[in-house]
Amino acid sequence: MDKKIEVFMEEVKLRNAHEPEFLQAVQEVAETVLPYIAQHEIYNGKNILLRMVEPERAIMFRVPWVDDEGEIHVNRGYRIQMNSAIGPYKGGLRFHPTVNMSILKFLAFEQVFKNSLTTLPMGGGKGGSDFDPKGKSDDEIMRFCHSFMAELARHIGPNTDVPAGDIGVGSREIGFLFGMYRKIRNEFTGVLTGKGLSWGGSLIRPEATGYGTVYFAENMLETKGEKIEGKTVVISGSGNVAQYAAEKVLQLGGKVVTLSDSSGYIYDKDGIDEDKLKFVMELKNEKRGRISEYVKEYPNAEFTEGGTPWGVACDVALPCATQNELNGEDAKKLLDNGCICVSEGANMPCTPDAVNTFLDHKILFAPGKASNAGGVATSGLEMSQNSLRVSWTREEVDERLKGIMKNIHASCIEYGKEGDFVNYVKGANIAGFVKVADAMLAQGVV
Ligand code: GLU
Repeated sequence: MDKKIEVFMEEVKLRNAHEPEFLQAVQEVAETVLPYIAQHEIYNGKNILLRMVEPERAIMFRVPWVDDEGEIHVNRGYRIQMNSAIGPYKGGLRFHPTVNMSILKFLAFEQVFKNSLTTLPMGGGKGGSDFDPKGKSDDEIMRFCHSFMAELARHIGPNTDVPAGDIGVGSREIGFLFGMYRKIRNEFTGVLTGKGLSWGGSLIRPEATGYGTVYFAENMLETKGEKIEGKTVVISGSGNVAQYAAEKVLQLGGKVVTLSDSSGYIYDKDGIDEDKLKFVMELKNEKRGRISEYVKEYPNAEFTEGGTPWGVACDVALPCATQNELNGEDAKKLLDNGCICVSEGANMPCTPDAVNTFLDHKILFAPGKASNAGGVATSGLEMSQNSLRVSWTREEVDERLKGIMKNIHASCIEYGKEGDFVNYVKGANIAGFVKVADAMLAQGVV
């Protein structure tokens, strides 16, 4: 490793020694951004990246709640306000038992670059809790969300910090969170995004992350004279991102053959068509069931318990589940089976080994901070509609989303071109960095 990067990482490790996911995300950025800083005089001697890895503020709080049997439980709540140089903090809330400082700081750090890439005025933040929504009743979810917001409400606002959903936080949770915010603050504002349509939400927001990931893949394929049409696509996950990524692939004429959840993956060699996808959406969103139930309905498909779908032959892979779900071995399997394009729908789903394998083989690889930015970009559009007190049509929002993904793709090319090859990792990191760093420089040492 370059000496400068090594020295920088040593310094970051001093304060964050027990945060592996955060260090992983920082190192990936440092590897491409520090050489860029070294070549650009204006950023020299300002310790700009060192300032960017330290959250502006990290809030940690107690979330007590009562279950249906009257028993009291305690979870830990967090909000990381990472960087507000270019706009109010913006980023999702994750409710999952694995949530801790390391995971939220990695997500908040990624969010700063991602939000900058959208070109919308949004800083970066992330929050959540180690609460596990699995198996909880609607009433328990409501009581938990209300308790969580009873504390969070004092730290956020439409011009301060605008949370949204992430893993474990969908429209049901956003509703409960908004209800308590409104009650405490006595204000009806655009303080959360992903709201219901009748109370300030935007059309296309539920679809946006998945659609955007596929639009980005389509943009990458176009540079090689290819398209999604006719391609076999492997998707991991079966939540919000995976569902709408699958829907968009089908609309563009591709064939989706896998979906997964923490129980394992399903492989349907005939393709998961619109009807089958509808079944999955109902199973996951309404019944909150496991993906294994797919094979009971469609016996031609196979279910592999505990596995990931990366050994299935495909042209395009869309990892849409969670961080570090695709490792170096998986990457080799994908390449051996003919995969030419990987677009990350989740945040940091590919390990550094996997990313390096894709880059070494010069396939089309998009990091989540570029390819999954459609979700937060559409949150930005929801904020604009709330401020203007208007609602744009489905077509209008979708057109804007497509345009934003195209611009992000163009920025990645501008900063990531290496001869004939586009290094989208480098492109996304540098393009995201430049806007935030320039704002920080203009604002002095704050
Ligand atoms: N959690 C999503 C993400 O990772 C969306 C954040 C938002 O809409 O604020 O980008």
